[in-house]
Amino acid sequence: MTQPAPKRLYIKTYGCQMNVYDSERMADVLRPLGYGMTDHPEGADLVVLNTCHIREKAAEKVFSELGKLKVMKQEKAAAGDGVMTIAVAGCVAQAQGQEIRARQPAVDLVVGPQAYHQLPELIARSHRASGVALAADFTPEDKFDALPKDRTASGVTAFLTVQEGCDKFCTFCVVPYTRGGEFSRPAADILTEARSLASQGVREVTLLGQNVNAFTGGLGNLVRRLAEIPGLDRIRYTTSHPRDMDDDLIAAHAEVPALMPYLHLPVQSGSDRILKAMNRGHTAAHYLSLLERIRAARPDLALSGDFIVGFPGETDKDFEATLDLVRAATFASAFSFKYSRRPGTPASAMPGQVAEEAKDERLAALNALLDEQQRAFNAAQVGRTLDVLFEKPGRYPDQVVGRSPYLQAVHVSGTADLIGRIVPVTIQSAAKMSLARNFENQLEPA
Ligand code: SAM
Ligand code: SF4
Repeated sequence: MTQPAPKRLYIKTYGCQMNVYDSERMADVLRPLGYGMTDHPEGADLVVLNTCHIREKAAEKVFSELGKLKVMKQEKAAAGDGVMTIAVAGCVAQAQGQEIRARQPAVDLVVGPQAYHQLPELIARSHRASGVALAADFTPEDKFDALPKDRTASGVTAFLTVQEGCDKFCTFCVVPYTRGGEFSRPAADILTEARSLASQGVREVTLLGQNVNAFTGGLGNLVRRLAEIPGLDRIRYTTSHPRDMDDDLIAAHAEVPALMPYLHLPVQSGSDRILKAMNRGHTAAHYLSLLERIRAARPDLALSGDFIVGFPGETDKDFEATLDLVRAATFASAFSFKYSRRPGTPASAMPGQVAEEAKDERLAALNALLDEQQRAFNAAQVGRTLDVLFEKPGRYPDQVVGRSPYLQAVHVSGTADLIGRIVPVTIQSAAKMSLARNFENQLEPA
């Protein structure tokens, strides 16, 4: 009997690491239906855009991509090559639902972040019926129960979602509306998934959650149990909220060697007035004293964070307070954003919306300071010997790229057999984003 031709699946992922995880899981759901991944959308049988709604620009990118896909869909049909099914998944799907189809009729189905386990049924429904198939439920329990228990690893590092959603309702943020309330997966399921990944050669997992440290049962406890899995040498987690950084998790940074010395702990602003208007539930002083405790546990910690400039009502003085906080905290890396007005969030209706030019100026000033700190952090590694987990070939022949414990990219000359190994590397040079060692005829790193 001849096998049916494999169906081509193209997934484009926007936004955060949680979407990267979700895209991998969508591929797991679709594999039994005969879908294999392709790395370009032309001619694909199913295209999934896994979208992000966090800022206006991220959401708008989706519609420009849909315009291009519409043309490809028409070309495929005209060539007699079958149907291209177009699916919009993720947070834009959750927030805009049927409106997406009104804006772009080429879309066949819309699936929210808690409903993608229903993709096989939705695809069948869209093939049977005209009109868009829509699923935007809010039940992460059902999703995780329905997902295949086997995870297919695609490298030596992997993301692993442990928590979803958020109950904190920061006034600028759409996450509580697009991802729903806080939900933690059962620890036993997470451990099973981690063991499956480790058995396939994964050596590092990054635990994911919108508020990963709000994990029920304690993230510190989960980290300790994961660290016992043979082969799993490195554990990271992201994104944390300052309010959920408990004593046990801080202690784990001192006690669990597999827990990497890197922490993404967004603060958003250094002004207490703005933090209050943002409904963050912490002050600048609270953030700094928390940091002191974490650094007492792990003095070499690489700190990362998120910042928003130009939140409604932010004055020059408020912004100065943010720069002061950055100077006091010292970051190894950070993400800074101009405030983006999101429909339906309380901040979008607040008075005192800041002019675009002021946001641009503040963003440039903040980035200049953060860049300086990042360069200094990287430069301080020169001459040190760091354990590097090699992940993939570099851009140049005989170059391999890995990550230091501090999540810096490390480039070395070497061959692909380094991939999957953790090797001590003496750092010779540093740039803003990466570290390097040039071997010059040496093959073994040391
Ligand atoms: N839960 C995390 C926390 O509390 O810090 C953040 C999750 S959010 C997906 C990632 C980042 O996007 C936030 O830390 C914030 O800096 C940024 N962000 C969220 N909403 C935004 C908005 N309306 N405008 C600009 N940046 C925003
Ligand atoms: Fe958004 Fe705030 Fe929740 Fe983070 S804590 S996901 S910024 S509402």
